[in-house]
Amino acid sequence: MIILASGSISAVVLGLGYWIFMSPYSQLFGDFSYKGMTSGKVVALTFDDGPNEPFTSEIADFLRTRAVTATFFQVGRCVDRNPEVTERLAREGHLIGTHSYSHRFRHCLRWSIQKKDIERGQQTLTTLLGRRPALFRPPWLFRHPSMLRTLRVQGLEPISGEFAHVLEVFQPSPERIARRALAKVRPGAILIFHDGFDARTGPRGRTVEAVKLVVDHLLRDGYSFATIDELLGIPGYHAQGKS
Ligand SMILES: [Zn+2]
Repeated sequence: MIILASGSISAVVLGLGYWIFMSPYSQLFGDFSYKGMTSGKVVALTFDDGPNEPFTSEIADFLRTRAVTATFFQVGRCVDRNPEVTERLAREGHLIGTHSYSHRFRHCLRWSIQKKDIERGQQTLTTLLGRRPALFRPPWLFRHPSMLRTLRVQGLEPISGEFAHVLEVFQPSPERIARRALAKVRPGAILIFHDGFDARTGPRGRTVEAVKLVVDHLLRDGYSFATIDELLGIPGYHAQGKS
């Protein structure tokens, strides 16, 4: 009985901890947009953890055929591996946000290290693109008050969203990913897909196929697509010449 009770208490504490620090929706520590305030049929597609080839380029190839632009939250060390992919995305009208430099969970636990990691990720993209990104998606959506304060000082707006499929990492079938993602679509929804694989290389072929199903379904339903700056009415990059 005591064991059962302590087990339930641990589950409650874990659940509460997740909700406070990692839930897509919690606003406890400050603004963390997970949707746009619109009644129009518009959705923002976002992609985390890339570039990861050939999958990021396959997504870009497909989006170009549909004239759809999206937001890519990229990991600095992956950008260093595939700079030409990031340049191509930016050239084709996609918005590039930062998703840290290393995407290592242990970096999230030491604030001084995480702060440097965030700065390095932003600087990597700034050097490559000649524009300073203004949007940041925290790895695992993990945040805490010091982090949100520092992001604002650095001119980075934290962006949340809806996970297309919570088990996307295990690559269920494209149909399952698409079905779950479509169930979350509302006017102003921000969908989170992963073109990368925890900042390493790894298969994302089923995500690519799921994105095709989702986009074509939404186009048939009369939806249009916006990048995050368009959806939220905020700058995607800092004005040229400013930090
Ligand atoms: Zn990530």
